Amino acid sequence: MSADIPTQVRRRRTFAIISHPDAGKTTLTEKLLLFSGAIQIAGSVKARKASRHATSDWMEIEKQRGISVASSVMQMEYRDCVINLLDTPGHQDFSEDTYRVLTAVDAALMVIDAANGVEPQTRRLLQVCRARNTPILTFVNKMDREVKEPLDLMDEIERELGMTVVPFTWPVGMGKVFHGVLDLREEQMRVFSAGADRAGGDDEILAGLNNPAYASRFGMQYEQAHGEIQLVREAAPSFDEAEFLAGRQTPMFFGSAVNNFGVREVLDALVDLAPPPAVRPAIQREVAPAEPKFTGVVFKIQANMDPAHRDRIAFVRVASGHFERGMRLKVVRSGKELRPNTVVSFLSQRRELLDEAFAGDIIGIPNHGVLQLGDTLTEGESLQFTGLPFFAPEMFRMVEVADPLKTKQLKAGLQQLGEEGAIQVFRPIAGSVLMLGAVGQLQFEVVAHRLEHEYGCKARISPCRFSIARWVTCDEADGGAKELQRFIDGNSHRMAHDAVNAPTLLVEYAPELRAIENNWPKIKFHALREHA
Ligand code: GDP
Repeated sequence: MSADIPTQVRRRRTFAIISHPDAGKTTLTEKLLLFSGAIQIAGSVKARKASRHATSDWMEIEKQRGISVASSVMQMEYRDCVINLLDTPGHQDFSEDTYRVLTAVDAALMVIDAANGVEPQTRRLLQVCRARNTPILTFVNKMDREVKEPLDLMDEIERELGMTVVPFTWPVGMGKVFHGVLDLREEQMRVFSAGADRAGGDDEILAGLNNPAYASRFGMQYEQAHGEIQLVREAAPSFDEAEFLAGRQTPMFFGSAVNNFGVREVLDALVDLAPPPAVRPAIQREVAPAEPKFTGVVFKIQANMDPAHRDRIAFVRVASGHFERGMRLKVVRSGKELRPNTVVSFLSQRRELLDEAFAGDIIGIPNHGVLQLGDTLTEGESLQFTGLPFFAPEMFRMVEVADPLKTKQLKAGLQQLGEEGAIQVFRPIAGSVLMLGAVGQLQFEVVAHRLEHEYGCKARISPCRFSIARWVTCDEADGGAKELQRFIDGNSHRMAHDAVNAPTLLVEYAPELRAIENNWPKIKFHALREHA
């Protein structure tokens, strides 16, 4: 069977939803899935959500891990497209995971709670998207409530997020007098009716933006909307595809996810506006999605679905070619060969076997540690994709085993948790006590719990004096490995190696770091490490 790779690539849309908790991501996800007939999954999205709200009691999250794997990637067919929706962890202590997931998408859908406007988590996630020039679609949710004025919201998004907003729809009223949205491009009105179980798409449609019937039927809300649209049309630039693709302009839609209103327009916009998979940079060359040979990159690892088996699933974003079950793949970092016969697809609530995949798709490969975050898979070519970020931790702890006989288990456990990206593990050059680095406190708790329950060793986690980490390198022109070694020797009391043996400087205070930077001008200090 010869798959028509370019056609398949053109059909793909891979995106994530970014939002602040409670803006409506789960609700919207469910409604999007309804359109593709994947109603079963909608239930699982809810189940996951139920657990997720107990954010302080993360053990609940743990219980639901099976569900969260199944719903962490959702694939649906809509019109002639295959849409991959990647879920992002809700709790900000796991933001590192989220950043990595965002490296695997080609577009993002930003959901704003119209009553709250731009919120902190949205701002943070958006910055990550902006750094990568990811195109953003904006959905302003909860118009059925008393919310901010649409002009103010538009202004807030532009000001706070530094993007030009181009309204594709405009609301007529809000809350109790929310009448619907005017579609500025189709020049029609979609009349709102409440109801969570509406299939969507069966809204009453009225032709024209200036239909004489509007004034009598929708009263002053229409008058107001009409005036605002005039203003917006004069002030806002028209939609520019290049600006959108560069992440500088965002089309904006208004709706109410819980009432399934305005959702289909967003889905249509994803198909019509969001880009198919693009060229991806690797160290050696750029890789085009329609190249015949398979390549992919591991952007997430989820471990121990079944704690008894220590299996873990590597989430691979296909970057090019055609993946078929059972094909031979090379793990470029180790040179090892992999022949995944069981591959997890995320199409439905149950794990299903997947037979083929193309650029933009996500495949889940169960393994016992052969695959690490950032790994590149190919059919044989030596290639390393770039761009998978690790952030310098901002919190540190020492970790020791309570029972010295369990030292081996501790090391093995930390090794795996480190590879999975659950925590960063540092081995100090001087001294034998391992150190943990995290972005959020919750990560330490997760690690302690998992060490005990999955690796059978109780860990003692105690405070430690460090608060800043920097990965260090030295360019060839500045002395390369020799100069780097000189630096490491001169600072051995505050040097460590991380999970992939990258030398890392650990310091207590920012002034200390500045002094070291000044003293060692040839050394580069990085707060961000890309690939392994
Ligand atoms: P998430 O945390 O972003 O996933 O948010 P959810 O989808 O769980 O929504 C948070 C709350 O807002 C839930 O109680 C939803 O029922 C509610 N919600 C979602 N969309 C709407 C909407 O359009 N209108 C109203 N009034 N409530 C909504």
